[in-house]
Amino acid sequence: MNLSLYNMLQDFKNFLFPKLCACCDAVLLKDEQLICTFCRNELPLYPNFFDGDHDLHKILYGRVLVDQAASLFYFEKKGIIQNLIHDLKYKGNEDLSFHLGEWLGNILQEAGWQHKIEVVIPVPLHPQRMRERGYNQVEGFGKAIADKLSASYNDGLLKRKSNSTTQVFKNRLARTEVVQNHFYVEGRSDVKDKQILLVDDLVTTGATLEACSLALKEAGVTKLNIATIAISK
Ligand SMILES: [Zn+2]
Repeated sequence: MNLSLYNMLQDFKNFLFPKLCACCDAVLLKDEQLICTFCRNELPLYPNFFDGDHDLHKILYGRVLVDQAASLFYFEKKGIIQNLIHDLKYKGNEDLSFHLGEWLGNILQEAGWQHKIEVVIPVPLHPQRMRERGYNQVEGFGKAIADKLSASYNDGLLKRKSNSTTQVFKNRLARTEVVQNHFYVEGRSDVKDKQILLVDDLVTTGATLEACSLALKEAGVTKLNIATIAISK
């Protein structure tokens, strides 16, 4: 097929199935990828300075000790990041997940994290939700970061017990108690004495990350680091 015909068919395909911005649903222009130029300029970037000032340390203070933390964006209700997280979770936008992982991976690489991480582990989805959606929205994010840091990615080590319901209790303390025992490590020898990066999409109360961290620490992880796509303001 000659090139101009190929381009014409591509244009026609884009006309029938236009690609939309993950933040505002505007039709993307030809040279825009996943997020439109307007939204890219509006993204509430999280300032990563890596000297223990990440808000996650404050959120998890007195609950579990995290070595280093990093996030890409601030999250605000009704803000553009809420749409972006929604696209990841419910529209199966795996390209977006991978793109965001490459983005944060580059930042972490520049900060020298490739010597600090051996295994990247995603927060596991509830098995029932996994069956419904068929994918974990942080998989691409975690894989891209692992790639940038020359670490391995393993989603078979940290497991969620199937009978857990994390959204039942609104109260932070009650939720923590409920979530606490719902994660366990399978194959402890693969995490023992290792430097781990736990990845998740969004931090709000920190209850899930706390529970996962405790399970990993209990299994003998030496350094526990966390990276998320966004963190609540
Ligand atoms: Zn947009």
